[in-house]
Order: sequence, then structure tokens, then C-alpha cells
Amino acid sequence: MTKGRMAPKACAACRSQRKKCSDECLLAPQFPSDDMQRYLIVQKVYGFNNVVKMLKDIKPEQRQDAVNSLVYEAKARMEDPVNGCARTIHQLQKQIAELESQLAAKQEEIMNMHFACEKLLSPLTVESVDTTSQQIEYSMCDEVDPMMLWEPLWAV
Ligand SMILES: [Zn+2]
Repeated sequence: MTKGRMAPKACAACRSQRKKCSDECLLAPQFPSDDMQRYLIVQKVYGFNNVVKMLKDIKPEQRQDAVNSLVYEAKARMEDPVNGCARTIHQLQKQIAELESQLAAKQEEIMNMHFACEKLLSPLTVESVDTTSQQIEYSMCDEVDPMMLWEPLWAV
């Protein structure tokens, strides 16, 4: 066997093609030999030549991100040959829409609570009070002590 002479760090792509891997191998940084599955999934869905072509058009510092998304998309495509990762995207968009409508409902609830709070305090408000004191009252409405409000109002 020539096992000892084979480049021990041949990348997953070269290993699967039984080729020698070189320092210039485009795929070596993204597909280390210790994770064959990662390469095989991408190769099965996109094909070796297409992966090489795609990576050549991408800046070296962006290739890892590109390969990560290729792996993600290839896995999704294998799990769901019809929709691929579009299924996940649609599910997340639906979830966003649901959460946005829940958020809108909660914001309305908060507005109504503020309005109710303001209404409760309104007998304490003297008509001639300026807006600054009204704002102070309003922000204190959670733990308001009516006596605390009356005293400065009468003092004005
Ligand atoms: Zn290689």
C-alpha cells in the first residue's frame, strides 16, 4: 500500500476523486478530509464542476460563507427535493407575520392601559396645570400616591 506516501491531508473533494491534493487546491480550505459527508452532500446536489466554478467567482475570504450556505441548501434540497430551503424561508416568513401581529396587539393593549391609567388620574388633574406636571403624573401612574400629586398642585 502507498498509504504512507499519500498526502495525509488530502481534502474531501480530492479524496473522493482519488486525486492528490495540492497546496493550490481550491476546495481544500472549505472541505477538510475529516468531514467527507459535508463534501459529498454538496457534490451530489451541485456537482464537482459547478462547485469549483462557483468558488472561483467568489473572493477567497468569502468562500467559507459560500460553502456553508451551499451545504445548508444542499441538505435542505435532499430533505425536500421540491421546496429545498424555500420551505424554511416560507415558514420563517409566516412566523414573522404572526409575531408582528402579536406585537401590534400587545402595543395596542399597552396604549389602552396608558389611556385607562390617564383616565383614572384625571380627577386629580387641575385644568390649569401645565403640560410638564401632567407628564410627571403620567410617568408616575404605576406607583402614584395621590397625596404626592395633590400637594405640589395646590402649591402652584
Ligand atoms: Zn483537494
